[in-house]
Amino acid sequence: MKLALHWKIVIGMLLGVVVGLALYELREHIASAAADSPAFARAGAIADGTIQFVGQIFLRALQFIAVPIVFFSLIMGAASLGDPRKLGKIGLQTVAIYFCTCVVAVTIGLALANAIKPGKSVPEKTRVELMEKYAGAVDKSKADVSGVKKPIWQTVVDIVPKNPFNALANANMLQVVVFGLAIGVALTMIPKHKAAPIVAIADALTEALAKLVQAALVIAPYAVFALLVPVVATMGYGIIQALAMYVLTVVLGLALVIFVEYGFLIHILARVSLPRFLKAMAPAQLLAFSSSSSNATLPVTMQCVKHRLGVSDEITDFVCPLGATINLDGTALYQGVATMFIAQMVGIDLNLTQQLTIVLTATLATLGTPGIPGAGIVMLVIVLQSVGVPAEGIAVILGVDRLLDMCRTIVNVTGDAVASVVIARWRGEPITPRPSASTL
Ligand code: ASP
Repeated sequence: MKLALHWKIVIGMLLGVVVGLALYELREHIASAAADSPAFARAGAIADGTIQFVGQIFLRALQFIAVPIVFFSLIMGAASLGDPRKLGKIGLQTVAIYFCTCVVAVTIGLALANAIKPGKSVPEKTRVELMEKYAGAVDKSKADVSGVKKPIWQTVVDIVPKNPFNALANANMLQVVVFGLAIGVALTMIPKHKAAPIVAIADALTEALAKLVQAALVIAPYAVFALLVPVVATMGYGIIQALAMYVLTVVLGLALVIFVEYGFLIHILARVSLPRFLKAMAPAQLLAFSSSSSNATLPVTMQCVKHRLGVSDEITDFVCPLGATINLDGTALYQGVATMFIAQMVGIDLNLTQQLTIVLTATLATLGTPGIPGAGIVMLVIVLQSVGVPAEGIAVILGVDRLLDMCRTIVNVTGDAVASVVIARWRGEPITPRPSASTL
C-alpha cells in the first residue's frame, strides 16, 4: 500500500503516543510493585534498547548530514551568485532583505517562547526527571554562562575560524558557514575554468546530500515511533500538553511573521494591500503546505509572483530562486522556538547572549538549509549544539515536526515573494497583475 510519507509519520506518532501511554499506565498504576523486580527491569531495558535503536540511527543520520550539507551548499550558493563586485544593487538589496526578515522572524519566535514558555508546561515531576537525566548538559551550559562570560564582540570574533577543518570536525556551525561562504566567494574571483571543477563537486555533493535527507526521512515514521514511546512512557500525559503548547507557539509565531512582519513590508514598503498579496500567493502557499518543500514549490512561486502579483521577470528570476535556497524565515523561527522549548524542558536557562547566538546561528544556518522536506530539523541539531542544549531533545518534538514543516514552508515561500515586491517597488517598477495563458 502506497501511503504518503506524512501520513506514515502521523501514524507512527499516534502509535508512539498510544504505546507510550500504555507503558506509562503500566508502570505507574499496574506494575509499580513489579517494576522493582530484576526480571521486569531487565525486560524493560531490552525493550528500551530495541526501541531506541531505530531512533538513535535516525538522529545520528541527521547529525551526519548537517555539517556537509551546509558547507557544500554554501560553496555552491556563493559561487553561483557570481562575482560579488558584479552582484549589483539588486543583489545587495535582496541579501539585505533576506537577512533582516530572518533576524526579525527568529526574534519573534524567541520573544514568544520567552513569553509563553511552552517547555515549562511539562509537569514539575517530569521536569525534575528530565533535569536529572540531562544534568550533565545543564551543568555544562551553566558553566559556559557563568564561567566564561563572553562579551558579544568575542562571540563575533569567534565566528572567524582559526582552523576551518576544526570547525568542520566540531560542527561549529557559524564557523562552517563562514568557511563555506569564504570559499564560495573566493572561487568567483579566480579564473572560471579553475573554479569550475570545485563548484561542480560542491553541486553534486549538495544534491547527493539532499538525497540522503530524503533517505533518512524514509525511516522517519519508525523513528518517530521509536523516539516517542520512551518519551511518553516516562513523561505521561504532560508531554502531550507541552507539545501542544509548542506547536501553538510555532504556529502563532509563523502567523505573526506573515500578518505583522510581512504585512508591514508589503503595506508600507511595497504599497500593495496584504489581502491582494495573499490572494495572489495562495496557490504557492497551498503547494508549500502540501509538499513541505520550497524548492518543489519554486516554479509555482515564480508564476504567482510574475503573473498574479505582477513583478518583472528580471527581478523574479533572481530573487525567488535565491530565496528558495537562502531565505527560510519560517524555518529559522521554528528553530528558535524549538531550541527554547527543549532548553526550558530540561531546565537550561538561556541568557541574552545565548539567545543572540540562536538568532545568529539560525539565520546563518538557514543560508545552507536546502528547501526540502525535513531539512529544518537537520539544521536544528546545529542550533541546539551552538548553545549546549542536548540534541536528544529532538526526540520529543520529532513527532509533530512534519506538521510544523508544512506550516513553516508556507512562510519560507511567502518571504521570497515579499522580497520580490519590495524590490520591484524600490526600483520603481509597476506591480500590476499580468495574466497569461499559463497562469495558475
Ligand atoms: N521544508 C522546508 C522548506 O522546504 C525546510 C524545513 O525543513 O524547514 O522550505
